Amino acid sequence: MNGLNFDHERLNHTSSNNTNPLDPEEFRRQGHMIVDFLADYYADIEKYPVLSQVEPGYLQKRLPKSTPHDPEPIETILQDVKDHIIPGITHWQSPNFFAYFPCTSSIAGFLGEMLCTGFNVPGFNWIASPVATELEMIVMDWLGEMLNLPNSFLFSGNGGGVIQGTTCEAILCTMVAARDQMLRRDGRPNIEKLVVYGSDQTHSALQKAAKIAGIHPKNFRAIKTTKSTSFALSADSLRSAILADMEAGLVPLYLCANVGTTSTTAIDPLGSLCDVAKDYGLWVHVDAAYAGSACICPEFRHFMDGIEGVNSVSLNAHKWFFTPLDCCCLWVKDPSALIKSLSTYPEFLRNKTSDSKQVVDYKDWQITLSRRFRALKLWFVLRSYGAANLRNFMRSHVKVAKLFEGLVAMDKRFEIVVPRNFAMICFRINLPSTMGKQGAYQNAKVGDNGQKLLKEKITTANELNKKLLESINASGRVYMTHTVLEDVYVLRFAVGATLVEERHVVMAWKVVQEHATAILSDN
Ligand SMILES: *Cc1c(COP(=O)(O)O)cnc(C)c1O
Repeated sequence: MNGLNFDHERLNHTSSNNTNPLDPEEFRRQGHMIVDFLADYYADIEKYPVLSQVEPGYLQKRLPKSTPHDPEPIETILQDVKDHIIPGITHWQSPNFFAYFPCTSSIAGFLGEMLCTGFNVPGFNWIASPVATELEMIVMDWLGEMLNLPNSFLFSGNGGGVIQGTTCEAILCTMVAARDQMLRRDGRPNIEKLVVYGSDQTHSALQKAAKIAGIHPKNFRAIKTTKSTSFALSADSLRSAILADMEAGLVPLYLCANVGTTSTTAIDPLGSLCDVAKDYGLWVHVDAAYAGSACICPEFRHFMDGIEGVNSVSLNAHKWFFTPLDCCCLWVKDPSALIKSLSTYPEFLRNKTSDSKQVVDYKDWQITLSRRFRALKLWFVLRSYGAANLRNFMRSHVKVAKLFEGLVAMDKRFEIVVPRNFAMICFRINLPSTMGKQGAYQNAKVGDNGQKLLKEKITTANELNKKLLESINASGRVYMTHTVLEDVYVLRFAVGATLVEERHVVMAWKVVQEHATAILSDN
């Protein structure tokens, strides 16, 4: 066989497999393989260490230095997924994942995402794919109604919703709208004078948005909250901060209030904050990234009381609403404020329907031009489970979280640090009385010495809890994360993985107890 023939043969071989990247029969074959692969992955997910155990840079050592010159079969690639990709995965879909906040997958969400990728339309304006815009408007109204949002946030009122990628983008877009609205006002304040407010519990997304939006770093306020008020931002402290800024010649612009903070799921009092904001003309955005989902249940809806007074609100359906990343639902009362800031209309996008202003062109509601058909996955989730089951999912997670809370409360070595609102528990090991320092503090007279001993006690307890968390996570059996509240190190246990059942938190609690016993006996 001469070289020429060999090449010819190889060409033939590859053309039957890989030269048409959208060959329907190959798509069917390979697509089924991936679905089977994922079904096995979900079935076996508890076999993997929840937190990936690899070292930084592990993958470079395992993969070739450059792109393969010749096509490789899907079988070989999938084998590499098993051998090299899976070890680097931290398994967010594991029922033993209790870290951060959940990132819930579901069959419906997955299938909707598949369709979105299959159609692969960048529906930046109505004409680019009318259904991408129209379905998004419909599902945003559906979900807004389930949340019992005032009509003024829905298209059926004069507002409307849009699916952003993430909360960071939702905050940035609304802040830019608020900024430009302010800069258009009489007197036209200088951008250098605009001030952004949140509590010290507000997500770092607010600070990032302020940076990008050109807010002077000195004009970012993280107002102090305390444990005594469960880390909620008080209207009085907001007012004091605003008054001090106005006194200094600054211009209050934007408040980001929380329904469910990341650290502790704290709830800011929306009604009284809005009263203050109204007095001084601030835009109020509500970040309900995690807890917003639970507010579809009537028994949790009160956490959103006062929502009628705000300008915008967002929640992450990709957190606790069974919709895969990314899917942040943002509602605004005044879409024209967003559009004034974010619209562009280059010649190559000009068309009759956009000119008619009869349609929504979502490119004008967000940062990017091109956008994914994300509404499909949310529509699949809403239809496949229905409002009734979605509410039941939330309730079952809260029930499982309550079970864990009860277990913690029964073990006197531990304390629950802040009251539970949803499905997340903040707890820590108490400094055992046998360790001496606590006794010493109790006997100490108030004053410098007492303060010093208190600090020592906090540091010792913090180190103990940190050690506990590290040893729990290194076991690979469960994964949880931490926060720090008023200098106190706290473990966070967030229930909400789609596959979680009572037995998983019972097991997780056993793991915590075992590691606590080992660490306490070492000390
Ligand atoms: C997770 C979270 C965010 C950040 O969400 P992204 O979608 O990743 O930007 C913001 N705020 C709160 C309260 C969160 O819990």
